[in-house]
Amino acid sequence: MLRADELIQRKRDGAELSADEIGELVLAYTRDEVPDYQMAAFCMAVYFQGLTPAETHALTDAMVESGETIDLSPLGRRVVDKHSTGGVGDKTSIALGPIVAACGVPFAKMSGRGLGHTGGTLDKLESIPGFRIEVAIDEFLEQVRAVGMAIVGQTADLVPADKRLYALRDVTATVDIIPLIASSIMSKKIAGGADAVVLDVKVGDGAFMKSLESARELAAAMVELGERAGRRVVCELTDMDQPLGRSVGNALEVREAVDTLRGDGPADLVELVLGAAGHLLALSDLGVDHDEGRRRAEEAISSGAALEAYERWIAAQGGDPSLDALPRAAVVVPVPAPETGFVQRIATTAVGEAALHLGAGRATKEDPIDHAVGIVVLAKRGDRVEAGDRLAEVHAQDESAADRAAAEVIAAYELGDDEPERRPVVLDVLT
Ligand code: URA
Repeated sequence: MLRADELIQRKRDGAELSADEIGELVLAYTRDEVPDYQMAAFCMAVYFQGLTPAETHALTDAMVESGETIDLSPLGRRVVDKHSTGGVGDKTSIALGPIVAACGVPFAKMSGRGLGHTGGTLDKLESIPGFRIEVAIDEFLEQVRAVGMAIVGQTADLVPADKRLYALRDVTATVDIIPLIASSIMSKKIAGGADAVVLDVKVGDGAFMKSLESARELAAAMVELGERAGRRVVCELTDMDQPLGRSVGNALEVREAVDTLRGDGPADLVELVLGAAGHLLALSDLGVDHDEGRRRAEEAISSGAALEAYERWIAAQGGDPSLDALPRAAVVVPVPAPETGFVQRIATTAVGEAALHLGAGRATKEDPIDHAVGIVVLAKRGDRVEAGDRLAEVHAQDESAADRAAAEVIAAYELGDDEPERRPVVLDVLT
C-alpha cells in the first residue's frame, strides 16, 4: 500500500527514494489515488532536495508509462524531432520542419501551446486558415510517410501524468526545477517516438533558464535521459536575451518563417534554423556530418524545395499555404526611438507580455487568441538608432491597444552610447 505521506517526508529529509517508490507515486497520482495536495508537497520537497539521476530516470519512465507511446518504426526510417523550452518569437520549427523534409529526412513533431509570455507552435500554426492540429495517430504516420513531415497537437493520452503534474506545478511555484523540467520534456519526446531529437534550451531574460550555467545543467540532464532511452540527442543553448527574429505574434511569426524558407529571413533566425537543420541531418540516416547537413539545408532554401515542402505540409493538414490568407491587424503603429544610441538590451519577457496584452497569447488556458496582432522588433541588440527611428511596429486591432503596447515596447528598450558586444544566437552545443 503506497504511503504518499511517508515518501514526502523522506524526500523532504533528503533521502533517495527507490525507482519503485517514485514510479508508484506518479502512476497513483495519474490514477487519482494521490491527491493534488500531496503531489504538490512532494514537488516542493523536490524543489529543495533535488532528485538523484536514478530518481529522475524513474520519474521519466513512469511518466512515459502513464499513457500511450507512438511507434514510428513502420516508417522504416530514422525519424527526427525538435523541441524548444520556449521563448519569445520562436518560430524555428515552422521553418525547420520543411527544410529537413525537403532534404529527405522524416520530421514528426507533437507540439504544445504557449502559456504566459511565450508563444506555442500550435497557436502560431492555427493562424493559418483551415490548418488542423488534431490529427489521429495513423493519419500522423501516413502524413509523415507521404509528405515528409507533420506538426500536430499532443494527443490527450500522450504522457497524461505530465499534463496533470505540469498544471499543478504551474500554480504551486514548482515549475523551475531542473529534474522536473527535464523529465517533463523528455518523457513527451520519448513517448512521441522519434529516434533523434534536437533540443533548443533558451537562455536569458525571456526564458525559464536565466543563466548559461543552469541551462547547461538542464541540457545535460535531457541529453542523458534521451540517450538512456536509446535516442540520439543534440542540445543547443540559444540566446533569449532578445526576441528571436523580428516578429512576435502568431500570423506575423508564420510570415517570418515563410520569409526564411524563401531565403529572406532575419539573420539570427536563419542561423538558428540552419544550425539545427545541420544537426538533425547529421543525426538522421542520411550518413552526413553537420557541415554537409547545413550545406544541404542551405541548398533546400535556395532551390525552393523547402518552400514547396512547406506548402505540401500545410495543405496536407487542411491549411491554405498562401501568405495572403493569413489574418492582418487593423492598425500598424510605429514605435519611435526616444533618443539616439545603440540598443543595449531588450527586456524580452516585457515584449512577450506586450504581445500577450494585445491578444497574441493567453493568460489562462481558456483565453481566445487574436492571431493577427503582435510586435515587429526592427532594432535589435547592437543596432544604432537615431532619435525618431522605428524601434518596432505594433500590429493591433485599435489605436488605444496599439498605444498601450507601444509604451510597453519603448520601456523594454535600453539605449546607450557604447556599442554592446555582439553575441551569437547559438551559445553552446551539447552532444
Ligand atoms: N516545458 C515542459 O514541457 N515542461 C516543463 O516542465 C517546462 C517546460
